[in-house]
Amino acid sequence: MDVSELLDGLNDKQRHAVSAPKQNLLVLAGAGSGKTRVLVHRIAWLMALENLSSHNILAVTFTNKAAKEMQHRISALMGNAHQGMWIGTFHSLAHRLLRTHAEEALLPKTFQVIDPDDQIRMVKRILKALNLDEKNWPAKQAVWYINNKKDEGLRPKEIETYGNKIDEQWKNIYSVYQTSCDRAGLVDFAELLLRTYELLKNNPNILAHYQARFSQILVDEFQDTNHIQYAWIKLLATGQLPSGYDSTPANVMIVGDDDQSIYGWRGAQIENIRRFTRDYDGAEIIRLEQNYRSTSPILEAANALISNNQDRMGKNLWTENKEGGLISIYAAFNELDEARFVVDQIKKWHEAGKPLAQCAVLYRSNAQSRVIEEAMIQGGVFYRIYGGMRFFDRQEIKDALAYLRIISNRDDDAAFERIINVPPRGMGERTLDTLRQHARQNEFTLWQASLSLLEKNILPGRSAGAVQRFIELIEALDKETYQEELNAQAAHIIKHSGLYDYYKQEQGEKAETRIDNLEELINATKEFLITVQDYEMTPLQAFLAHASLEAGETQAEAHQDAVQMMTVHSAKGLEFEQVFIVGLEEGIFPSQMSGEDETRLEEERRLAYVGITRAREKLTLSYTEVRRLWGNEVRHKPSRFISELPENLLEEVRLRGAIKTPSIQRNASTHKLAATWNSSEYQLGQRVTHSKFGDGTIINIEGEGAHTRLQIAFQGQGIKWLIASYANLTK
Ligand code: ATP
Ligand code: MG
Repeated sequence: MDVSELLDGLNDKQRHAVSAPKQNLLVLAGAGSGKTRVLVHRIAWLMALENLSSHNILAVTFTNKAAKEMQHRISALMGNAHQGMWIGTFHSLAHRLLRTHAEEALLPKTFQVIDPDDQIRMVKRILKALNLDEKNWPAKQAVWYINNKKDEGLRPKEIETYGNKIDEQWKNIYSVYQTSCDRAGLVDFAELLLRTYELLKNNPNILAHYQARFSQILVDEFQDTNHIQYAWIKLLATGQLPSGYDSTPANVMIVGDDDQSIYGWRGAQIENIRRFTRDYDGAEIIRLEQNYRSTSPILEAANALISNNQDRMGKNLWTENKEGGLISIYAAFNELDEARFVVDQIKKWHEAGKPLAQCAVLYRSNAQSRVIEEAMIQGGVFYRIYGGMRFFDRQEIKDALAYLRIISNRDDDAAFERIINVPPRGMGERTLDTLRQHARQNEFTLWQASLSLLEKNILPGRSAGAVQRFIELIEALDKETYQEELNAQAAHIIKHSGLYDYYKQEQGEKAETRIDNLEELINATKEFLITVQDYEMTPLQAFLAHASLEAGETQAEAHQDAVQMMTVHSAKGLEFEQVFIVGLEEGIFPSQMSGEDETRLEEERRLAYVGITRAREKLTLSYTEVRRLWGNEVRHKPSRFISELPENLLEEVRLRGAIKTPSIQRNASTHKLAATWNSSEYQLGQRVTHSKFGDGTIINIEGEGAHTRLQIAFQGQGIKWLIASYANLTK
């Protein structure tokens, strides 16, 4: 390939980073400055000029979406040359290592990855078994404790409690939970990382093998790595090996931006960036300062916002891109108005011939998506949600996956619990309790406990029958399908487990969606075969791992041009021509939890910075005056983040009244901040007199013509809503 191609389209500093000799590198730079681009070009450069083979490269990104994007960009540069390269998220790479070396990792070959939902169920069961009241020992908190300790690299026996009774109990929960996961061959997300670390640490032969293999490690979004992730990169790169083994240190390139660190709440440490320069010899720091992504108003706004944070490494970002409209602000009346506004704007943009996929709607938390989704459906706009009520999280899908899981691993307790009575087969809570108890006493999995109880013949006839039928069903399904291809296997299991008919006989629209979803799952297994990787898994295992690992990111209905909806967290690293950030209200964004805590507030601000810097051409921010939350109407102040943006970069969009007359084709008119509503009769800010309330100022206008409603602040009389045609106002 032509080497100059690798350096074309890069500025001097980017070139320097891409073509540096083999060494440790840190690219520290703001949003949109080309960090990911540099990383991709660096990979191509190493292969083209330093004679590295794709097998020598390990590239780590933060989301599966980003990993795919990276593969895509590399193949655009180099064709097929990236085959055999390990590119993935920390979790998917860890999973791959554990699969390949299950035995050394002390895991059964059939081990299964469980998602956070399953983890909570497991913990709930353990709390029950330990006779702990969930009021005092909330399952969520236990899960948080467990994951946190794992992220710190700690096993129960390494946790020091200094005789504190409460800490002792948490530690005990962790310990019992882990034993039962191990017994059932279940691995949670945090465990993937810790287990991999231990695998490498305790098996010098394996570590030596990978050290020899990976001579170059590259990590994107490094600011969001946590302790254990940092530790395993370090071990792989430069971990000491006992005598007798050849240690072959790798060169490491990390790219990151301290201003975009948004996972502190999950244990990520910005500090890792600083630590890197200490831990890796001669690491060169390269700073990129030119932003290529956004127009200058967007970039200026982002810079202004983040400058309110104290704890920064500090950097300048500039752009040559002088053009660009102002940032629109829309003060919605309520969340319905906000959603309609967003959908309307998107429709206009789409009518102008732009692809929907270049449009993103970002929100602080998943719960906010529903209202917008509904408005999209009403407006006939295709959309796709990343995260949230994810395809793989839906009830019927999880049920189906549980059947597939237990086919793949009988000892999967989480799956067992989920489907033992779905569809109902006359299994009472009492029988289940007997099973659980028997399992606990004998250190059995639920499957083993069932077999043992049947053998001993202690279950009452009816329950025994139910358990027996279940066992026979699973064995039969396995026997009927183990030689089939994944797609046929999944279809057979879903249809013959009884699940399909069970959901089919449910009434109404919901049942239809469920059946559609089950069909979609079968489709997904068909498409999946193409991407199965060649490591030590059966296609079914690979698919199940995919379902738990990628669940958070994609929906099944792909292929269509659609608006992208996601939380700001999941938008990291991505870019879109047009971005909407909704719900910019105090208590929503920044979130309630950040309260007055400065550190958390700074993290919220970084999150807002991430959101703003996703936009290339057009950014629209919105907030509502009234919002329905948990069934109550709540008034929030506009987010402080809006007031931290320079006013000259903003324009306020006024199209109030739209909410009252949604069917009327409205004329959106856009004005500079503080401009007024262009109504023939009344204007915002206009002074009027009312016969009873006296002098006042119009502060809001809704509706048109005879329906016009005015909100007026009367001196000494408070704020009132009046119908213009009855109010008899004098101007
Ligand atoms: P983030 O911090 O959001 O992850 P980033 O620093 O990784 O951003 P990239 O996504 O690599 O930035 O680049 C942002 C955009 O700028 C991309 O569209 C990229 O193609 C473009 N870009 C980067 N460098 C250049 C360049 N030298 N010339 C033209 N376009 C560039
Ligand atoms: Mg990037």
